[in-house]
Amino acid sequence: MSVVKDSGARALQPPFEPEHEELRETIRRWVETEIVPFQDEWEERREFPRELFDRAAELGFLGLKYPESLGGQGGDQLHDSVWAEEIAAAGMCGGVGAGLGAHTGIATPPVWTFGTEEQHERFLRPAIAGTKIGALGITEPGAGSDVASIRTRADKVDGGYVVNGSKTFITNGVRADFLVCAVRTTPEGGHGGISFLILERDMPGYEVTRKLEKLGWHSSDTGELAFTDVEVPDENLLGGENEGFKLIMSNFQWERLLMSLGAVGGMDWCLRATIDYALERQAFGRSIGSFQAIRHKVAGMATKLEAGRALSYAALRLLADGQDALREVTAAKLFTQRAAVEVADDAVQIHGGYGYMREYRVERALRDARLGPIGGGTDEIMKEILGRGFGL
Ligand SMILES: Cc1cc2nc3c(=O)[nH]c(=O)nc-3n(C[C@H](O)[C@H](O)[C@H](O)COP(=O)(O)OP(=O)(O)OC[C@H]3O[C@@H](n4cnc5c(N)ncnc54)[C@H](O)[C@@H]3O)c2cc1C
Repeated sequence: MSVVKDSGARALQPPFEPEHEELRETIRRWVETEIVPFQDEWEERREFPRELFDRAAELGFLGLKYPESLGGQGGDQLHDSVWAEEIAAAGMCGGVGAGLGAHTGIATPPVWTFGTEEQHERFLRPAIAGTKIGALGITEPGAGSDVASIRTRADKVDGGYVVNGSKTFITNGVRADFLVCAVRTTPEGGHGGISFLILERDMPGYEVTRKLEKLGWHSSDTGELAFTDVEVPDENLLGGENEGFKLIMSNFQWERLLMSLGAVGGMDWCLRATIDYALERQAFGRSIGSFQAIRHKVAGMATKLEAGRALSYAALRLLADGQDALREVTAAKLFTQRAAVEVADDAVQIHGGYGYMREYRVERALRDARLGPIGGGTDEIMKEILGRGFGL
């Protein structure tokens, strides 16, 4: 795709520095050469190959923000943010971004933040090396937005816990080697009685019951899991008992920011593809981009992209600085996920009939973007968080 003046060729924006842009270029090159040519095949097959994790690990992408002592790159949240933005765009293949992103963005961060040294060795080191794939299991068939109502139970026994229950919509759920799993450790409901256990796929009673079919993200696996008397040793308790809600909340901020950055990457891709197309496609003896209606639509797309970028980068600057960014992250997530759907829809419209065809990729962009206003906390929940934050 050609780089068009005033789009794509953007100035360096804080908090990013030249070293981050070098990483961005490296990831883009990898995506273009090792992901884009195979995307259609992986989407058809409903799975990208397991080896993509190995390759990402080999290039250091699975451990960007983790210390070298654990096999990571010794970077920080900013390096991981570049990865999120670029991999979510991934030549507009949400499934690849989702699978790799769930591993690096939501499954491993709690192990790093709340895990013991022993847990770092057992789960984080192999996750960084790509030899173990991780997933995060919070959602259940009867509990999504209302996290506090989860019912998967972990009963305390001598030396560990016995887990019974189920999880659904789990990204990487089918092939994950370990699941960072929210469980209820007190008989009372509510926020107080939630803990996290790391469940391992080879534990007896741990079963993948279904690989779910979905609107988009076709090359990522989304699993439904059931646990029947799964014996989990004490060493697999992540963080304190009954302190799981803290883990959920700390993870959500990061996940939502990564989703915002991902949407920015996706909108950027859609805009560039659409400008290229609008310049080339002829109708009534001129390029369609010269019609005011199309030009204005493109202007609207670019405005949403830049507004989304500004919100997301502002939230990132706060988080990277160690400050509370609840309001900023929530607003960024709310705005960017809806904007990404609208931008992808405009991209399809400007591509006309070709936009509805698989080969033009904007079709996939629209399907993939639709998850954004639902996953990682819905639009309605984002509005609740923002509204309540004003004391309403
Ligand atoms: C492809 C995919 C991948 C996912 N990956 C993961 C994963 O890896 N791990 C994981 O744990 N989860 C995952 N999820 C789950 C996702 O986070 C939930 O789907 C999401 O949080 C919404 O929960 P729900 O689907 O149960 O909807 P519900 O909570 O049942 O909501 C249904 C509707 O009611 C609205 N609603 C609910 N409560 C309120 C309220 N208080 N005020 C106003 N409206 C309200 C919601 O906004 C929504 O519109 C994934 C989901 C999908 C689709």
